[in-house]
Amino acid sequence: MPSISPTANSITILAVALPIPLYRTFDYLPPLEINVATLEPGQRVAVQFGRRALTGIIIEIKDHSDFPIKKLKPVKQLLDQQPILSPSILSMAKWASQYYCHPIGEVLFAILPPILKQGQPINIAGTQRWSINKDHIEPAENAIKPNAKKQLQLYRALENAPNGLLEETIKLLGFTSTQLKSLFNKALIVSEELDALTAAATEYQASAPPLPLSEDQTVAVKQLASDIGNFQCTLLQGVTGSGKTEVYMNLVDQVISAGRQAIILVPEISLTPQTLARFQRHFKCPIGTLHSGLNQNERLTSWELARQGAAKIIIGTRSAIFTPMKNLGCIIVDEEHDNSFKQQEGFRYSARDLAVTRGHKEKCPVVLGSATPSLESINNVLNGKYKKIALPSRAGGASFPDIELLDIKSRPLEGGLSRPLIDTIKQHLDNQHQVIVYLNRRGFAPAITCEDCGWLADCRHCDARMTLHKHPAHLRCHHCDYSAAIPSQCPDCQSTNIKTLGAGTEKAEETLEAIFPETPIIRVDRDSTRKKNAMKDLVEEVNKGNPCILVGTQMLAKGHDFANVTLVAVVDADGGLFSADFRALEKTAQLLIQVAGRSGRGSSKGQVVIQTSHGDHPILQQIARGNYPQIADELIDERQSAALPPFSYMSLLKAEAPHINNAIGLLEKTKKMVADMALDPQQTVELLGPIPASMSRKAGVHRAHLLLSSENRVALQRITQHICHWLNDNRWGKTRWMIDVDPIEI
Ligand code: ADP
Ligand code: ZN
Ligand code: ZN
Repeated sequence: MPSISPTANSITILAVALPIPLYRTFDYLPPLEINVATLEPGQRVAVQFGRRALTGIIIEIKDHSDFPIKKLKPVKQLLDQQPILSPSILSMAKWASQYYCHPIGEVLFAILPPILKQGQPINIAGTQRWSINKDHIEPAENAIKPNAKKQLQLYRALENAPNGLLEETIKLLGFTSTQLKSLFNKALIVSEELDALTAAATEYQASAPPLPLSEDQTVAVKQLASDIGNFQCTLLQGVTGSGKTEVYMNLVDQVISAGRQAIILVPEISLTPQTLARFQRHFKCPIGTLHSGLNQNERLTSWELARQGAAKIIIGTRSAIFTPMKNLGCIIVDEEHDNSFKQQEGFRYSARDLAVTRGHKEKCPVVLGSATPSLESINNVLNGKYKKIALPSRAGGASFPDIELLDIKSRPLEGGLSRPLIDTIKQHLDNQHQVIVYLNRRGFAPAITCEDCGWLADCRHCDARMTLHKHPAHLRCHHCDYSAAIPSQCPDCQSTNIKTLGAGTEKAEETLEAIFPETPIIRVDRDSTRKKNAMKDLVEEVNKGNPCILVGTQMLAKGHDFANVTLVAVVDADGGLFSADFRALEKTAQLLIQVAGRSGRGSSKGQVVIQTSHGDHPILQQIARGNYPQIADELIDERQSAALPPFSYMSLLKAEAPHINNAIGLLEKTKKMVADMALDPQQTVELLGPIPASMSRKAGVHRAHLLLSSENRVALQRITQHICHWLNDNRWGKTRWMIDVDPIEI
């Protein structure tokens, strides 16, 4: 957007976005004593808004206002000499604000690093570059004690790096500050202070790919690289273990060689530290990361280095899609089917969909990678919008695991495990291999009940059962985190006959410990990985390769590459088979195929055992054949005949209130407004509901939904926007409302 240089007699008005939940910008006059020619969209300003002092962002510079000019206040202060948001990021934010019906100010403030939201200047920390001290002539061996092997290794690493190494790189290579200090104290090495920009810019060096690519991988890289410089979205459908990460890295090499930068979106960095580690090994340069595990300064540093063009690669979770890049060359979305790319609160957006929008705007290729792509993306291949590249076999000679369904209908279970499954686990451990036991429920048991009267422990604040946890012993609601003591007596009939129902990860862990007392049992769920680096430590432990059993939730299904796991056991596959949610079968198939894909990735053949009471369910039968493309084809046909997404579009209007009647009431008024104003004369948009949400009370709040659905996206957008503006213009007391465009949970 070009800035307008005002002529002598024209007036300059700044449209400023503020972090306020209103669908508009606010007009201000330029700050006093500032040359208006220096003002540009994307600069931050400090303004007075009513009685509040706020930070805002200039969105537009114009020569008129709908308000009387006399009433406009000048901006108090210009905070940036240069725009901190480029025209392309501003344009994407505006687009997202419209599409997702979310106020522009809130969109912009959702994507800025926290330090910049607070109006502070961009100030990023420098770093040290270490190199050997050329003045030290005596051989290093003489100065380093023989048992200080790491110090010697570090010295050698620096010797082999003619330009020295950045402190971050040294740490990535596994050395510590103490080792650096020891060498420094012996005058063997020297350091030089670098500002962060110079540091990141000088250090890029692509290491030769450590693995010769397979034929399929080579073709994939070549095809993807031929799109550099143009927009093209490609679905990289590669079976689990087919070497997609290797393809990404080789593509990024070429993107960087072309002088451009790459954004790589991953589902959750703290859960898959291996992916980041592989990138760090491949690219001998500091990689900008953006995820929830960073502090504010680290976030700002990655963001700023990307913006300046110094960081060549940004790896991050969903909000990283908004990272400003000086010269974006490609966007990769790994595990594109993953729900975590959808922001489910506040500014609700799909990072995967925005990746495609951004690629289109910035003319760069977008790669969506998955072994189990979303039906949306597969459909976009079918309708010609996306290209598809397949990697049909596993890399490095690994073969596919055999998948078998184990009928548990009339079998006794111990901690959820049947006898034949326990025997199979034993065989794999006896062969010195590792085992994954997958159970998507944390805690000890998902419910407790009174055997005499049937009482169940419910959450006080939600329509949900309390989960029993044993370490420490308590009841906890997994929806609002309310916790309570375990009752020794039934509160209804005073019976002491209280027992647990079902099994969670803690129970499976306890059972396995009793059966395999000699084998380390590693539980992996939200409770066991709460501490920083817990997942990283755990991955390191598993990578040592000693026989062990990993018991855990979804966290185990995502992206891990454990070479010695030869058995994956799914404790209960039935949960998602009979859900009311039309996406349930797609999600179940993706999850089971992904978790199965953790087996047999190394040189030994893998096995997968799925326990089920519905072994004849067609989806399970197909999962057992491991054929996701075929499952997807059938699910797509079903969606098409039912006119469900991706063959129609949805937005979900949600209301929350202290009483359900108010929540329903707001949605009913909305529906009536749409009818009264004849917003949809052609009747292309269906309004379903209002109905109470599937868990109608959560954390003490009652929730209801109105679903808007249409095969006509434009009509749906128009009505959704109208509804949001109407709701925004009216007051609803204690009833809150929010809109979810393209919802993934209904
Ligand atoms: P995906 O991301 O498709 O699941 P990965 O990239 O994790 O697959 O690769 C699976 C395993 O195969 C990894 O251990 C990786 O190092 C190995 N691998 C990938 N490409 C090759 C190759 N060309 N030659 C040998 N091994 C490979
Ligand atoms: Zn009772
Ligand atoms: Zn609760």
